[in-house]
Amino acid sequence: MRSLSRSESPLAPNAAEGGRRPDFAATMAAAFDGIFALDERGAIRLMNAEAATLFGYRPEDLIGRDFGMLTPESDRSYRDDLRPEAPMFRRRIDGLRKNGSIFPIELGFSEIACDGERLLIGLIRDLSRCGRFEDGVHELQANRLDLIENMAAGLAHELKQPLTAIGAYLNFARRHLKEKDPSVAKIAEMLDNADAQVFRVSEIMDNLRQFIARGETGKSPQNLNAVVRTACEFTDALAKQHNVKTTIDLAASPDLVVINKVQIQQVVVNLKRNAVEAMQHGERREMRVSTRLLEGNLIRTDVADTGPGLPEEVKTRLFAQFTTTKPHGLGVGLSISRSIIEAHSGKIWAEPNPGGGTVFSFVLPLADD
Ligand code: ADP
Repeated sequence: MRSLSRSESPLAPNAAEGGRRPDFAATMAAAFDGIFALDERGAIRLMNAEAATLFGYRPEDLIGRDFGMLTPESDRSYRDDLRPEAPMFRRRIDGLRKNGSIFPIELGFSEIACDGERLLIGLIRDLSRCGRFEDGVHELQANRLDLIENMAAGLAHELKQPLTAIGAYLNFARRHLKEKDPSVAKIAEMLDNADAQVFRVSEIMDNLRQFIARGETGKSPQNLNAVVRTACEFTDALAKQHNVKTTIDLAASPDLVVINKVQIQQVVVNLKRNAVEAMQHGERREMRVSTRLLEGNLIRTDVADTGPGLPEEVKTRLFAQFTTTKPHGLGVGLSISRSIIEAHSGKIWAEPNPGGGTVFSFVLPLADD
């Protein structure tokens, strides 16, 4: 930092004030911040009460003493910066209180010229006072990063299914076009299906945007059977591709629930896709999707498959994040599904299917009339 000339010094007479020297010590004493002045050897020349109290002293106890007594021996590297030619600097270091306790402080120094002598004027901030706030901010940031990580993993997972389906429908359409006598009706149907999946992607993105903007997702009264049926349609192509025979038995009545439709559809799609994948190398490939009422105003949805059952290693942490036995699995489908169902005051679990395979079930509270 450029040294202040004699006339620029805050301690120098100020023409604008009629040549009267401001009382520097009085100004320091009245300041709300911890302020002190050191000479070139590091001896304390001035220290206001605010600064001295931070260390558990009175100002008069410290005048003339070495500033080093206010910092632990292990943390005196800042002293290298206390050279007259050093620029203004700011440092986080440890402070040492009179009672021996150590606390974090921030020091800011700058140099001034005063009556032919160079002084270092310092400002002290007690960081332990803002520690709680900073901890809170760090925790919030960590939570937000967790949330973003979860959302990114979730998004990658949720978008994969509609995008795969769009690719499959477009492929069907292209293949039909290459046939000798292409059926326009068939191609139109494939393009409609692809279009429905594009709409689904935009619904998923809207949901996410809403969540980011408001921290919540919109729920509305829905007929669960219709919601499950639509979700089943989303995975029809996948089931057919793997020769899985699907039975749908949506018998629950009444079936009014207050839900986020897109999210509950995501759960059904996740369960159905897992079921298809579990059966893809098996002999029997049968899936049954059903709803029924339970006592206590609950509605239950089951997705049953005839696959090999749950692998032993995932049983205890089936719904935990990043649990997967698939070579390209993300291991987030079931953890997202559980978060969604729990956010709807419901419950989700898995049991062995009596005939072989697995049944994933979730219950949701029925809406009041
Ligand atoms: P991912 O499908 O990416 O692996 P999930 O959270 O959806 O992630 O599933 C976690 C794991 O649970 C799967 O890797 C698989 O081992 C097991 N799993 C899920 N559904 C079934 C099922 N219907 N049958 C057998 N195992 C299943």
